[in-house]
Amino acid sequence: MSKIRIGIVGYGNLGRGVQFAIKQNPDMELIAVFTRRDPSTVQVNDDSVGVFLMDNVKDFKDKIDVMILCGGSATDLPEQTPQLAQDFHTVDSFDTHALIPQFFEKVDKSAKASDKVGIISVGWDPGLFSLNRLLGEVVLPEGNTYTFWGDGLSQGHSDAIRRIEGVKNAVQYTLPVKEAVDRVRKGEQPRLSTREKHTRECFVVLHADANQEQVEQQIVTMPNYFSDYNTTVQFISEEEFISNHSGMPHGGFVIRSGVSGAKEQQLMEFSLKLDSNPNFTSSVLVAYARAAYGLGKAGQSGAKTVYDIPLGLLSPKSAEQLRAELL
Ligand code: NDP
Repeated sequence: MSKIRIGIVGYGNLGRGVQFAIKQNPDMELIAVFTRRDPSTVQVNDDSVGVFLMDNVKDFKDKIDVMILCGGSATDLPEQTPQLAQDFHTVDSFDTHALIPQFFEKVDKSAKASDKVGIISVGWDPGLFSLNRLLGEVVLPEGNTYTFWGDGLSQGHSDAIRRIEGVKNAVQYTLPVKEAVDRVRKGEQPRLSTREKHTRECFVVLHADANQEQVEQQIVTMPNYFSDYNTTVQFISEEEFISNHSGMPHGGFVIRSGVSGAKEQQLMEFSLKLDSNPNFTSSVLVAYARAAYGLGKAGQSGAKTVYDIPLGLLSPKSAEQLRAELL
C-alpha cells in the first residue's frame, strides 16, 4: 500500500516533533521540510530528508499529500494555512482560542476553492481537551466544565519575562491550585476566579548588573500575563537553569462535574502528563494528518476542527479491525 506523503512547514519544536512522530507511523513518509530560513542553516534530525525554502513549496504540489504546519500561532499560521490550503491538505495547531472562528473562515474559503481539507487547531488544547469538553457537556448537560493546566511550562509567559530588561533567561510554570482541583473532584461545582484556579512560578537568571527587586515587580504586575495570578519569582544561577529547567513539560485535566437522572453526582475526567509538550502535540498533528488524507480521498473539502473528524479516521486500522479490537 502506498504511504501518505507528508511535508513539514516550519522547523521549530513542533517541526522536529513531527519528524519523530512520522517514524512511529509506518503508513506515512516524510517527503520534505520547508522553512523561511536559509535551508543550509536548518539542521534536521535525519540527513536523508531534504530541506527547502518556502518559495519552492508549489513544486511539491503533486508530491505531497498533507502539509503539517508547525509555525507559530501569532503570525505564521494566520498567513501560512490559508496560503498552503490552496495546494495541499493541511493540519495545524492554531491555538489562539479567541480567534479560531475567524481563522476557520479564512482557511475554509481557501480550502473549499481548491478542494482540499484544512484541519485547524489540532493538538492537546485546543485539540484533545476540546473533544473532552464537548463530551462532558453532551453526556452531562446539567453541570460545569473545568479546565486546569499544569504543571507545565508556558512558552508565551516565559517569553514575556525574557523581554524584561536585565533578564538573561527565564521559564514560567503554570500550576493548578490543589484546593480548587480537590473541590471540583468532590463534585462541589465551585465558581472559581482566574486567581483561584492557577498559580504561576517563575525561575529567572539575571544579568550581573540587573536590579532583582525591580525585575520581580515588573513580572508580578505585568497586565494580562501575571497581575491576575498569585505569582512567585525565584532567581537562580545559569547552571541551575540549564540542569533543572531545560525541558518542556506540560499537561493538565478537563473535568466535567454534573448530575444525572435522580441527581446522582457524576464526574468525568481526562488528564495529560507530558514530559514534552511539543513532541506530544506533534504526535496529535500526525494522527490528524491521516484523517485529512482520508477525508480528502472521500471527496470532502474545506476547514475542519477536531469536532468534524470521526475518530476512526485517525487510525491506520480499518473499521473492521477497530470494531474487533477496540470497541
Ligand atoms: P517554535 O518557535 O519552535 O517554531 C515556530 C517557527 O519559528 C518554526 O516553524 C520556524 O519556522 C521558526 N523557527 C524555529 N526555530 C527557529 C530559529 N532557531 N530561528 C529562527 N526561526 C526559527 O514554536 P513551536 O514549534 O514550539 O510551537 C509552534 C506553535 O504551536 C505555537 O505558536 C503554539 O501556538 C502551537 N502549539 C499548540 C498546541 C496545542 O495544543 N494546540 C500545543 C503547543 C504548541 P521556519 O522554519 O519557517 O523559520
